[in-house]
Amino acid sequence: MGSTLIHGATVLTVDAENRVFEGGFVALRDGHISAVGPRAARPDPGDFDEAFELAGHIVMPGLINAHTHSAMILFRGQSEGQSLLTMDGWYNSIREPELSMTGADVGPAVALSCAEMALSGTTTFCDQYFFADEIAAGVKQAGLRAVIAYGIVQLGDREKGEAELAKATAFLEQQRSADGRVIPWFGPHAPYVDNTEDLLRAEVEVANRFGVGLHLHMAAGPEDNVETLERYGLTATEALEKTGFFNTRVHAAHCLDLSDNDMRIFARNTASVAYCATAGLRSGREGMCPAVGLRQLGVTVALGTDNVAANNAYDMVAEMRVAGLVASHRERRAQPLSSKDLVRMATIEGARALGLDHETGSLEAGKAADVAVFDLRGPGYSETPDPETLLIYSGSGRDLRHLWVAGEQLVRDRTLTRRPYDEIRRDYSATYADFWARVAAAKTAKTTKEVV
Ligand SMILES: [Zn+2]
Repeated sequence: MGSTLIHGATVLTVDAENRVFEGGFVALRDGHISAVGPRAARPDPGDFDEAFELAGHIVMPGLINAHTHSAMILFRGQSEGQSLLTMDGWYNSIREPELSMTGADVGPAVALSCAEMALSGTTTFCDQYFFADEIAAGVKQAGLRAVIAYGIVQLGDREKGEAELAKATAFLEQQRSADGRVIPWFGPHAPYVDNTEDLLRAEVEVANRFGVGLHLHMAAGPEDNVETLERYGLTATEALEKTGFFNTRVHAAHCLDLSDNDMRIFARNTASVAYCATAGLRSGREGMCPAVGLRQLGVTVALGTDNVAANNAYDMVAEMRVAGLVASHRERRAQPLSSKDLVRMATIEGARALGLDHETGSLEAGKAADVAVFDLRGPGYSETPDPETLLIYSGSGRDLRHLWVAGEQLVRDRTLTRRPYDEIRRDYSATYADFWARVAAAKTAKTTKEVV
């Protein structure tokens, strides 16, 4: 894989002391970071296969999108005016057309999603959906790092639950990629809405056997709590703790309606949260994820875009900005999450939530060479003592210039290196047209049947 020296830029290490090196360097060798440091300690560029002199740029750990559904790019713009965080909104705009989706649609959709993520600075993401095998194949082709949670939906059918669990177990056995970039997990869609207690216990047992985690939606819509309060007089979080669900690594997306006790349950079980501020705001729900309070209790809070029907973008720079704005509004004070906090949430805390903090999430010697470089020389950027704030509140993921995953340069001068963007986009456009034509045909067939 060779060696690369990146130097002359503002280096955000996101290490334990949040060190920043103005004009510093990052050295990459054989897929790993071999050294990081200040300008004065810069090694000789001649000792590397390649050197990038990048004054006016920010070099930072690759961003980590801690919750999305990459195949759902097919629904971009298709759920406007609907809240995807309620059962009704999801059912009306997503569930019906989703029934027309096939495995063949997933590859081109995941390819475009990965391209958009890479081109805006994301090196790792956490996905949860059906078609997990097809998603894993797409991610392997794109070269990104991803935790892929096999979506399990039971909907009251015991046999279906057992069959899904067997398939999910096979997915865990087969999909871990040789280079370690694809990490299979489990993903019960939303507990109590569609998974029985027995199935949840079985999922925990299998997750522990394989040393993986469970990624799910929690307290996103009101349904979770309504259901369990009626049945047991407990919130969904309390009911899940009683079931033993937290006896493994749990990473929960949204978490808009957590009570104080729910938050303590997250803290004592070291469960993590994917705070999806844009998706939450667009849904119109009153609740907002209590990110500040969770962090005060020691809970790891990462950031996620959610799917791009809800968001509608994969830009994690924009996501940091919205996460900061929502927190200021919710807490009624100026920046309770500092820009440094937001950068940590989009990098090292995302890695911690996914159990990957030993491997990625910061620029430190020994970690995988997952690096993002943003060009801050264009309009909208100017001198500042605070580079993190400049990137988050003045900047954009569109200013990503270079990106490495495990030392492999996947974006060079704003251009994908593995496969041309135009080709990915052409494939996707054909798939999109075909998919929505099938959705329309299915709808016509259904209407005709109803009329007859
Ligand atoms: Zn989601």
